[in-house]
Amino acid sequence: MEKLVSLCRRRGFLFQSSEIYGGLNGFWDYGPLGVELKRNLKDAWWRDMVAAHDDLTTHAGAPGAYEMTGLDCTIIMHPQVWKVSGHYDLFADVLVECKESKKRYRYDQVRCRWIDGTGMHLPGSDQQYATEQVKYLIATVAENEAEDLEKRAMKLLKVRSKDKDSLKWIDGVTTLDQIDTQDFDKVFAPEATKLGTFGEPRDFNLMFESHAGALQSEDNKVFLRPETAQGIFVNFKNVTDSSRVKVPFGIAQVGKSFRNEITPRNFTFRSREFEQMEIEFFCHPSQSQDWYKYWRDRRMAWWQSLGLSGKNLILRDHHPDELSHYSTGTADIEYAFPFLPEGEYGELEGIAHRGDFDLRSHMEGKLDPNSCPLTVQLGEDGKPVHRGSGRDLTYRDDITNERFTPHVIEPSAGADRGALALLCEAYHEDTAPDDKGQDQTRVVMRFHPRIAPVKAAVFPLVKKDGMPEIAQDLYRALKKKFPAFYDEKGAVGRRYRRQDEAGTPYCLTVDGQSVQDQTVTLRDRDTLEQVRMKLDDVVEEIERRVTGSC
Ligand code: ATP
Repeated sequence: MEKLVSLCRRRGFLFQSSEIYGGLNGFWDYGPLGVELKRNLKDAWWRDMVAAHDDLTTHAGAPGAYEMTGLDCTIIMHPQVWKVSGHYDLFADVLVECKESKKRYRYDQVRCRWIDGTGMHLPGSDQQYATEQVKYLIATVAENEAEDLEKRAMKLLKVRSKDKDSLKWIDGVTTLDQIDTQDFDKVFAPEATKLGTFGEPRDFNLMFESHAGALQSEDNKVFLRPETAQGIFVNFKNVTDSSRVKVPFGIAQVGKSFRNEITPRNFTFRSREFEQMEIEFFCHPSQSQDWYKYWRDRRMAWWQSLGLSGKNLILRDHHPDELSHYSTGTADIEYAFPFLPEGEYGELEGIAHRGDFDLRSHMEGKLDPNSCPLTVQLGEDGKPVHRGSGRDLTYRDDITNERFTPHVIEPSAGADRGALALLCEAYHEDTAPDDKGQDQTRVVMRFHPRIAPVKAAVFPLVKKDGMPEIAQDLYRALKKKFPAFYDEKGAVGRRYRRQDEAGTPYCLTVDGQSVQDQTVTLRDRDTLEQVRMKLDDVVEEIERRVTGSC
């Protein structure tokens, strides 16, 4: 992971936001190559899910044909949206605060391990030893978990490096939320020097707040959206009234979301500002199970088509215990990000069967998610805790005349986590011959050609004898179709290396023979195979290879 992070910075995929001021935790900027990569990912999603969707054909695995359309909603919406959706009351993570370091951590993300301190130095004392049986819980949030746990245990128990094998660990690593809070006095918090500095766990709402207008009062408090989905639900009626879409159909949206994550970490995986690619798919309740299965499998196949495949990508169905009772199915598409411990996966996309929960909430008022059947949550005065819009968000089928509240299937993906997974999957080290024919280690980003930031690079072998002119004409012809790069500096082997690191799938070299017979060599990034082809055929050939790989 460290190698990838350093490559991302060095080659301009990702930078820390406001880096010259020391950066801002949880915020990231995409550099010249990163912006193309992420844009290609979002464009591929929009094209495959919406723009190129064929409304007339029944897709493999789908219960029938369906329509797809899109929206672009505002980031700040009426505050009632978030009250009714449940985010205002419920969108919270549990945090623990260390009283000594004043640092806050997400309760379920603090990792810890019990250690036997019997016979060892008493914490805080140079002279005394624990004569009775005693154990402590060493806590960490570091990415190099095992090393950090050991380092902190040695610090607490005053064990020297040469004696580290004398540490007596009990059981494996667990998370703090699995520990009885009665045992908090035995916890050695991540950045503490003393034991027992964690306070009681408490809820922390993740929505960023702001104020709309000149006054900063409760009345004009607004929220930055923590998901794009609600903009779709509140526009359901607008879309059905203004277009001719008929259930079943989906509304897609790509856009920024904001979550004030307690511990942003793992590069862009957990950011405070990120982009989502979400679909709300509306269907008849009697068909919703089939649609759920369709979307779950289709979304998995889509990520695979971009090169995330094999054992790094899994589809995990939630256990019935994990589901809210109004949902009859949820699955996560998860990726084995290299910063996670072996065998663990991180969520890339969630596909949820949400029943009629969202449309009903916006009609009737905030529903009590624990009620069964779902009912509006009432306050002590017997009135809804958060009132709905009162608008009719049901749907009438104009063929059967049936009126019903559509069920919703929600495939919700993260563009930043997607780009990060593509970066992780692409990173390879192998050997390739240099200019002198000697094998050298090379770093190569094996992006699928469809999402590679630059599709082709053009090099004149030398900067004379008519080669630059031919190469520049070729570069201009390619640039009309897709991102291409022209480079005439340095040894050609070094130019290839730079493109390998950028993930450019094809390099074209103009040499002395090109001037004679109007041919160039095309080098494939992955196979290193070089073929000579006619200059006139190059643009078409690259286009065929890039789009043919979709
Ligand atoms: P997690 O459990 O990892 O916090 P979540 O279940 O809260 O994620 P959802 O609310 O289902 O996530 O959001 C849908 C998608 O949005 C996720 O699958 C992920 O790709 C992306 N996402 C959510 N939170 C973040 C974040 N803090 N940073 C980057 N992407 C995120």
